[in-house]
Amino acid sequence: MRVYNFSSGPSTLPLPVLERAAAEMTDTNGTGQSVMEMSHRSGDFLPIIEKTEALLRELIGIPPNYKVLFLQGGASLQFSMIPLNLAAAEAGAPKKSASYVETGIFAKKAAEEASRYVDVHTRGSSKDKDYTYIPAPLPPEPGDAYYHITLNNTIVGTRWAAPPETGSVPLIADISSCILSEPLDISRFALVYAGAQKNLGPAGTTVVVIREDLMGKTPSWTPTMFRYDIHAREGSMYNTPPCYGIYIIGLVLEWLKGMGGAVGLAELNREKADLLYAYLENSTLFCSRVEKPSRSIMNVTFVSSDADPDRRKDMEKRFVKEAAAQGLVNLAGHRLVGGMRASIYNAMPIEGVKALIQFMEKFEKREK
Ligand SMILES: *Cc1c(COP(=O)(O)O)cnc(C)c1O
Repeated sequence: MRVYNFSSGPSTLPLPVLERAAAEMTDTNGTGQSVMEMSHRSGDFLPIIEKTEALLRELIGIPPNYKVLFLQGGASLQFSMIPLNLAAAEAGAPKKSASYVETGIFAKKAAEEASRYVDVHTRGSSKDKDYTYIPAPLPPEPGDAYYHITLNNTIVGTRWAAPPETGSVPLIADISSCILSEPLDISRFALVYAGAQKNLGPAGTTVVVIREDLMGKTPSWTPTMFRYDIHAREGSMYNTPPCYGIYIIGLVLEWLKGMGGAVGLAELNREKADLLYAYLENSTLFCSRVEKPSRSIMNVTFVSSDADPDRRKDMEKRFVKEAAAQGLVNLAGHRLVGGMRASIYNAMPIEGVKALIQFMEKFEKREK
């Protein structure tokens, strides 16, 4: 039996995608091979990566002066590649600087990694309230090479309602947990990146969308595999790309297109999130700690409203366990913050959200 999987990542994939991948497992497109067995430079694989890129360009609306790269190393490697490519100095030269907004644990990690290569200017933080809101961002400091934000914060469940104004300073966003969840004006950004395993496909592939003029500025000591210009020049085939992941992303994008693309998904995602937040607003057992204007439509976190920490923990543990027994799995919050989290990415059907709310209502009635 398929469960409703609320995992934050790797996360649920659309059933039609899994079924198609299963049907094509031993013979894809009449080649007599699995995609896993294909040479990445063969005429069998090239149409697959080309189709995935074309769909990504179409569905996100990527202008022609941006490159699309399929890389490895997760979103976390981008925490290093971004400063290395856009701001690191030649050996012996003075350090450059960049702006970061600290809206969560991944945002903090990104800034920490960057601080190995550049001076980090923190242009806002919500650490004072455990990252439960998006702070009013300060403008970049003069000379900053770029301005980095995390558009959707997966762990606490916040989202920038609108990206900050950064003037001529290139804006960069980690969109790992919200890519294609709603329309995004890419022309506002110089670079966006996403680990696939949240909203796009399996773990192992990272999508980078980068404006062409930002490439080719790496210091001479940069390792080749960390250079955007090399990956762009080689069409993501400087070395073997994550072929199977790229294929599955292509299938997910085809499915997304059938769902009405970013516009269609935004409507559905909004409906799912509204249902869950509305329930939490009225609940006397659970509540959301996230400030309303900052609430994510992808990761909905909630806690027991009980003031007693022991009773709270006990109830949350029982909730997660009993939910799992009902086929509603992976509802525990991130290990660093506790509580509960329902990740309701594109592939989570509205029926899953309704089943979760029904279970919460029953649980609440019984607890009271
Ligand atoms: C999951 C996640 C990451 C880390 O991704 P990896 O692919 O595991 O490196 C970074 N940023 C955000 C917003 C995430 O959700």
